[in-house]
Amino acid sequence: MTIVGVIGAGQMGSGIAQTSAAFGHEVLLADVSVELAQKAKDKIGKGLDRLVAKEKITAQAAEETLSRITPVGDYAPMAEAGFIIEAATEREDIKAKIFEAAGKVLGAEAILASNTSSIPITRMARQSPDPARFIGLHFFNPVPVMKLIEIIPGLATSAETIAATRSFATGLDKTVVLSQDEPGFIVNRILMPLINEAAFTLGAGTANVADIDTAARLGLNHPMGPLELADFIGLDTCLEITRILLHSTGDSKYRPAPLLAKYVEAGWLGRKTGRGFYDYSGETPVPTR
Ligand code: NAD
Repeated sequence: MTIVGVIGAGQMGSGIAQTSAAFGHEVLLADVSVELAQKAKDKIGKGLDRLVAKEKITAQAAEETLSRITPVGDYAPMAEAGFIIEAATEREDIKAKIFEAAGKVLGAEAILASNTSSIPITRMARQSPDPARFIGLHFFNPVPVMKLIEIIPGLATSAETIAATRSFATGLDKTVVLSQDEPGFIVNRILMPLINEAAFTLGAGTANVADIDTAARLGLNHPMGPLELADFIGLDTCLEITRILLHSTGDSKYRPAPLLAKYVEAGWLGRKTGRGFYDYSGETPVPTR
């Protein structure tokens, strides 16, 4: 058992907290306030209840998992943590402030990890007290379901940190892939151009939302269409990653589709706001175009 600090209790942080707790770790969950962390815990509890109702887990397992998650209002209790995992909004200025504050309490042997989808690990490591103990630990959404974790060492990350992180990740029953610290790592380097191109295709009027997703599902044998998947990830996150790919490579092939940017400006961020390429207000998602 390790004490795991999770900073950022949105969809990813909540999933990381739930999964870590389900595998026996004690979790300290933080967001911008203890109220938000508590709200996230309540939501995790509801999700666990649904799993119990579907007989996927026992009521006892759900109760034990939830009891291992403690919402916190500041990082001081994370001094005991073996891992502190940052999963806050994909903005480097926000993450830098978190690393500075978490670095003040980070234990002498502890590892500070970021769940960033696209921000360079080597650069962020400079905000931490010991870049040798800083690493990218990239989970996928929804965390309890998705089997993959990308591990991304920065230039200064030590071999011990990589080994300990790999062992933590495999202990969560995940499969680990190792990526160098290059823009988008492995998955988003491949995925974001696909989602962005789907948004260009929609914006150009080539096909509607339903047909683009059906084409990818049946023509490419993808389990989910790119627009459906973008709604899952969050359109703001997709846009931010695409911008980072563009700026860090200087390659215009990564320019964001205007329609994707427009949806984000409208606050249509996908499932988390109830509307993205699909409308989620009813029983089943309805394509918006
Ligand atoms: P989200 O918007 O659901 O959650 C972000 C959370 O961070 C919010 O609860 C917000 O209140 C909190 N936050 C903001 N500023 C904070 C601060 N200063 N201190 C503490 N908490 C703060 O976003 P998400 O989808 O959970 O993404 C979080 C991170 O995970 C991002 O870096 C993203 O790139 C990465 N990621 C996302 C996905 C995905 O599919 N959504 C997959 C892998 C990785």
